[in-house]
Amino acid sequence: MSKRTDIVIIGGGPAGMSAAVNAVARGKSVRLLSSEGNNLGRAELVDNYLGFYKLTGAELMQKFSEHTASLGIIHEKGRAANIMPLGDYFMINFAGEIIEAATVVLAIGVAKARAVPGEEQLLGRGISYCATCDGMLYRGKKAIVWGLAPDAAEETNFLGSIGVDVTMVAKGDRPAELNPSIPFISDTVRAVIGDDSVKAVDLGDNALETDGVFILRNAIAPTTLVPGLETENGFIKVNNRMETNIPGLYAAGDCTGSPLQISKAVGEGLIAAQKAAKYIDTTKS
Ligand SMILES: Cc1cc2nc3c(=O)[nH]c(=O)nc-3n(C[C@H](O)[C@H](O)[C@H](O)COP(=O)(O)OP(=O)(O)OC[C@H]3O[C@@H](n4cnc5c(N)ncnc54)[C@H](O)[C@@H]3O)c2cc1C
Repeated sequence: MSKRTDIVIIGGGPAGMSAAVNAVARGKSVRLLSSEGNNLGRAELVDNYLGFYKLTGAELMQKFSEHTASLGIIHEKGRAANIMPLGDYFMINFAGEIIEAATVVLAIGVAKARAVPGEEQLLGRGISYCATCDGMLYRGKKAIVWGLAPDAAEETNFLGSIGVDVTMVAKGDRPAELNPSIPFISDTVRAVIGDDSVKAVDLGDNALETDGVFILRNAIAPTTLVPGLETENGFIKVNNRMETNIPGLYAAGDCTGSPLQISKAVGEGLIAAQKAAKYIDTTKS
């Protein structure tokens, strides 16, 4: 396999898995990258997906996973923090690894994250969602990682390793994998404080001074994930070929809008993969 993957799929729900199956069927190299957890796994009963009925969401997901595994598709766990469109290819920052892709299918579901006060105003002025992308800006400065995703401790360790004076804030116990020299506060961020730039975070009882805040959630807004991506009412804007406004970038499933249902997600995953495969074939020749 060449260093550049033909089709990288972000999201391991029904849309992403359907895209993976159909990309393999078209003879393309595929990587299926996804954070832990998905919407369907929470469904108590699914009764409207043709051929598979009276199943829990988890049972249906298990069937989908068996299908992808039978084709040798590996479900790689982690969070895509950033996707850079670079003309005829993409660079994806995935769990600290940089992946090159000829095309990308976004199958990221619906982002449920609600911004905390100050977050939107200070975005790009001390707030970042990607430690590996923006960490160097805080070398020799103070930063806080607000860990809401499983890979947050690793990202915090990375910031510490490049000379950022970093503190991790997260609910619950100190993560075992967090470097022992890095301070940990078991709490949650209520607000980000600052005017022109970030000055502190509000932890309820006290404010913690900082130059930057890395907010590491599983859910990242599509426009944060891919600079320049067009959305409409919060959903990724696509045409009936599942093409976004960026050539080579496709989207499928709940992230493109209603109905937020499995059958639609699976159908769109198929279209996105087939169109991505066709795009590769036509742009290569
Ligand atoms: C409780 C409940 C019951 C439901 N019941 C039904 C039903 O009976 N019938 C029906 O048709 N539909 C039902 N649905 C809806 C159905 O689950 C969704 O329509 C379907 O899961 C959409 O699939 P998707 O692949 O688009 O998104 P999702 O299933 O949400 O998958 C998105 C995936 O992308 C991953 N992801 C997101 N961002 C990133 C990132 N930056 N990097 C890496 N990975 C990322 C997520 O972790 C997730 O794995 C139900 C939903 C819920 C919550």
